[in-house]
Amino acid sequence: MARIGFIGLGVMGREMALNLAKAGHTVVGHDVVPGVAEGLAAQGITPARDLAAAAEGAEFVILMLPDTPQVEEVLTAPGGLLGRLRPEQLVIDMSTISPVATRKMAEALAARGVAMLDAPVSGGVTGARDAKLSIMVGGEEATFVRARPILEAMGSKVVHVGAIGNGQTVKLCNQLVCAINIQAMCEAIALARASGLDPAVAREVLMGGSANSWMLENLGPKVLAKDASAGFRIDLKLKDLRLANDLAFQQGVPLPGTALVTSLYLEARAHGEGSNGNQALFRVYDRMTAQDR
Ligand code: NAD
Repeated sequence: MARIGFIGLGVMGREMALNLAKAGHTVVGHDVVPGVAEGLAAQGITPARDLAAAAEGAEFVILMLPDTPQVEEVLTAPGGLLGRLRPEQLVIDMSTISPVATRKMAEALAARGVAMLDAPVSGGVTGARDAKLSIMVGGEEATFVRARPILEAMGSKVVHVGAIGNGQTVKLCNQLVCAINIQAMCEAIALARASGLDPAVAREVLMGGSANSWMLENLGPKVLAKDASAGFRIDLKLKDLRLANDLAFQQGVPLPGTALVTSLYLEARAHGEGSNGNQALFRVYDRMTAQDR
């Protein structure tokens, strides 16, 4: 069993850290918000007062943070872990961030003899809670093999997708599929509703055939119940869409579907939905069909 420093105990991170503890690992947790780590102590997480204490003596240092600047702050910015980490330690960043920044940070760590994997996840809070995440891992093969048992305590599908940064690239592909998928669900429900059908019945029928999707199964009920609670916040999805659009621009790949759905997410944020769950994209359709009055 390993000692693991876990940094970022938010919606996803806390569930993942708890699964590592349940698997028998010693998990030392830290979050920038005071009291968060302490609140998990009764469930087997050892709270660390700061970053350094979380990483001290840990074989694996796992990050589950919102975006690129927070990962840079924890790893390579002044006061970050870079100067403290030792060659026997392995950094696993499971946040969804920029693949380019990931490679730069991995280089800075490698210069000090420290290995890094990028291992972003898909599967939402339920996937995190049930240890059924899909985990896409970039980095050296031998480093991946070392980390695999740890990752398998959090996910049911753990796939090595090549060099460092590739995990993030696959994750961005994943996110654009999710975004276009949720848009398709919203359009179908909006059309069914406007045509006088019961949207719940329409959803049931769609789920029975080739239109079925994770979105219909998991977020469909929330749309129908007008439950906008997060889950995965609109703001975080917009961050992922920005990263996907940036990468597409760098690679010269047109992504017209992604560009369209990004605009709808921006509309949602402009109407104050940033902290709501992704299913709040449906409110864009409420507004477009004058169903919000
Ligand atoms: P979150 O905002 O709930 O959690 C992030 C946590 O990091 C917060 O508790 C925050 O206080 C903490 N934090 C921020 N800066 C810190 C710092 N400098 N030091 C220590 N802690 C710090 O976000 P989340 O929903 O758990 O998502 C985390 C990552 O996983 C994001 O990159 C997101 O895109 C990705 N993701 C989320 C979901 C989901 O369904 N929520 C699914 C897949 C992937």
